Amino acid sequence: TGQQEVALDVIVIGGGQAGLAVARELGRTPLSYVVLDAQPAPGGAWRHGWDSLNLFSPARWSSLPGLPMPGGEHRYPGRDDVVRYLEAYEARYGLRVQRPVRVRWVRPDGALLRLGTDRGTWRARAVVSATGTFDAPHWPEIPGRDLFQGRQLHSSEYRSPAGLEGQRVIVVGGGNSGAQIVAEVSRVAHTTWATLTPPSFMPDDIDGRVLFGAATQRYRAQQAGSDLPPPSLGDIVMVPSVREARERGVLGARAMFVRVTAQGVVWPDGATSDADTIIWCTGFRPALQHLDSLGVLEDPGYVRVQGTRSRAEPRLWLVGYGNWTGFASATLVGVGRSARATVAEVVAALR
Ligand code: FAD
Repeated sequence: TGQQEVALDVIVIGGGQAGLAVARELGRTPLSYVVLDAQPAPGGAWRHGWDSLNLFSPARWSSLPGLPMPGGEHRYPGRDDVVRYLEAYEARYGLRVQRPVRVRWVRPDGALLRLGTDRGTWRARAVVSATGTFDAPHWPEIPGRDLFQGRQLHSSEYRSPAGLEGQRVIVVGGGNSGAQIVAEVSRVAHTTWATLTPPSFMPDDIDGRVLFGAATQRYRAQQAGSDLPPPSLGDIVMVPSVREARERGVLGARAMFVRVTAQGVVWPDGATSDADTIIWCTGFRPALQHLDSLGVLEDPGYVRVQGTRSRAEPRLWLVGYGNWTGFASATLVGVGRSARATVAEVVAALR
């Protein structure tokens, strides 16, 4: 393809919120760039959220730099609102995104980096990886998982309780996904919630705004050289569906089962429960397989960074994966700061 001949200044891998925030910053520089995104349409991982998913923070605290998310101070945007917003963001800033293009590998090529994709080969002077975590769902190792004859799905595949009516469903995982999915599925099915440690619920009046404020204070304190302990607010945000489930008395959790059998699970005390479906709400890892070829992956699948720049490969930056690639960078409101700092570094490096 023609792309093989052209070398761009920067290629951004991934066109979710992190990739878009980086692209918007790049658009304000003279650098040439393109975003290569594996999805067929805008929205990144939000395209795959469950039907009832709502943000933890009102719209006003859920925006990327520049364009406010519609909805103001009182509306908690839903999944489709975020997808529409990201689509509008691309259009508003004329971001150059190519879809669907999946990057399979990245390798050094003289002074450049070469990218192999399912749509030809590309070359660039610098690469920003912004592939998120959605493509790397985490399934914990647990004996017998392959034996189970019912259905198993990860929260990344969960859309709605449709099809689970009347079933015995075990939901695994004590985070927000687990709590929200228990809340919803328990309305139509008999649910059992299994968690490694007892779930810890935040006070009802804490939402993403408060969390971001507390995290920002802590970040500033660290930057200033002092250490502020993290606020112990709990893990689970009491969104309306979870509060309602609490009223129904379905939020009791059992200590994680020790084994899966053909019919169900075995609890630590030896008791068993039969199940039709197990839903694993057990989180994600950074989706970094495409960087394996660069030799920068450290066990267990992270890249060593200084700020957002790879320590081993100076032409590579990583944005949006979590606090390890920038404070609050895995949130809509937080990723702009990482994107701005990253692009400033890229500009300086390519000068
Ligand atoms: P993604 O959205 O995953 O985008 C990455 C893109 O890269 C995707 O389009 C993917 O297809 C593409 N890609 C991956 N690999 C390749 C490859 N090899 N080549 C090309 N393209 C590739 N954040 C908030 O701010 N507020 C909230 O209330 C909130 N609630 C959340 C609730 C849930 C249940 C979850 C899971 C997350 C929530 N988040 C929330 C966190 C965060 O905003 C999302 O995880 C966000 O999607 C991360 O954006 P990203 O751009 O880094 O990754």
